[in-house]
Amino acid sequence: MSRSAHPAGPRYADVLPEGHHPAPPADLNALDPRVWSRTVARDAAGTVTVGGLDVGHLAEEFGTPAYFLDEDDFRARCRAWREAFGPDADVFYAGKAFLSRAVVRWLAEEELNLDVCSGGELSTALAAGMPAERIALHGNNKSTEEIARAVEAGVGRIVVDSFQEIVRVAHIAQKAGKRQRVQIRVTVGVEAHTHEFIATAHEDQKFGLPLAGGQAAEAVRRALKLDGLELVGVHSHIGSQIFDTSGFEVAARRVVGLLAEVRDEHGVELPEIDLGGGLGIAYTSEDDPREPHEIATALRAIVERECAAAGLAVPRLSVEPGRAIVGPTAFTLYEVGTVKELPGLRTYVSVDGGMSDNIRTALYDADYSVALVSRTSTAEPMLSRVVGKHCESGDIVVRDAFLPADLAPGDLIAVPATGAYCRSMASNYNHALRPPVVAVKDGTARVIVRRETEEDLLRLDVG
Ligand SMILES: *Cc1c(COP(=O)(O)O)cnc(C)c1O
Repeated sequence: MSRSAHPAGPRYADVLPEGHHPAPPADLNALDPRVWSRTVARDAAGTVTVGGLDVGHLAEEFGTPAYFLDEDDFRARCRAWREAFGPDADVFYAGKAFLSRAVVRWLAEEELNLDVCSGGELSTALAAGMPAERIALHGNNKSTEEIARAVEAGVGRIVVDSFQEIVRVAHIAQKAGKRQRVQIRVTVGVEAHTHEFIATAHEDQKFGLPLAGGQAAEAVRRALKLDGLELVGVHSHIGSQIFDTSGFEVAARRVVGLLAEVRDEHGVELPEIDLGGGLGIAYTSEDDPREPHEIATALRAIVERECAAAGLAVPRLSVEPGRAIVGPTAFTLYEVGTVKELPGLRTYVSVDGGMSDNIRTALYDADYSVALVSRTSTAEPMLSRVVGKHCESGDIVVRDAFLPADLAPGDLIAVPATGAYCRSMASNYNHALRPPVVAVKDGTARVIVRRETEEDLLRLDVG
């Protein structure tokens, strides 16, 4: 995860210099298809629907705040990624973006693989019937118990992240009488953030073993010696919310460079490389992400070119989009509680959720869009800050956005592109009850993760 591309310091709406306000959209009632999920539409009467269902009715039935996940859109994105990469590559959905049993079943049906990074994610994947050989286990500090469960289940790969873990996984596999397929997570000295990437001489981060200085090569050396391991490849993940492939280009070149070194030293051509996830999505109309087929074409070309230059057979490629699959498929529906105008400053719109259901704005300074969805309005645009109900002034959902000036308590507003890293990072701060996830498809809505209740909170509090 990364911060968004905004420079530090006061932002336009913090200082409101005359003439520097963001331009209001031409039509406040329009829903930009770039930021809303595929089946969201506003009909001629002004009613907003998703999957053919009126959002007002959805709010009555399921309450607010709630996440509404567009199943058709989710499946279409899975297929787009699968088809873009074709049969010679694997697409692993990064479960940490959002995981539930329904989602696992959709992934299984759409022939995607699944990344997990904890025992909890692993048990969800297995409980929903994802074949173990299509699961990869990640993490920089997997417990012995998590590794043992993964080995026992027969996961297709474990991505090892340290020298200690190489020995740990080998030992556990050997005890189980197995040979575990592993990849080594390397850091390539590239950090990608949104529109730019930074190439650094060495990586200062907790994940992976650096290529620079030879730790990655040493990890390969150690892994190749251990009977409990079948070393199948090298893994690199360079960042998140990335909009172009230049960072991947450097990563691929360096990873292929390691494969060539390994061949020269050990006479072994490792058969797989994984270039990770991090592909960006549109949170606002200004974001312009690449389509899966463009990314696939670019990545394949880079890998093929680098392998040709190194005299290597092209290894099997895998990628791990999380946000790019689930992010655009959901929106959060809130009810407006108060509208507070601070003359000369700004208007605060308070909703019935906040940082407990979307921490990304506070954590990463992320940008979001917002729209009034329970009715249309012809009122003037009002520069607004959408805030939550938590006891924290940084509890901001949408920093700066235009809403109609006649916005009032009881109106429903929706924040699109909240499918990734919102429910999965949700908290109980202030003993908030985490919202449900409702899957919508073809005129049917179905709760896939129910709303938390006060009994749920009290059940954990053993007094
Ligand atoms: C987080 C993560 C991903 C997914 O990142 P997105 O930005 O959601 O695409 C993929 N691979 C690894 C190893 C990750 O840690």
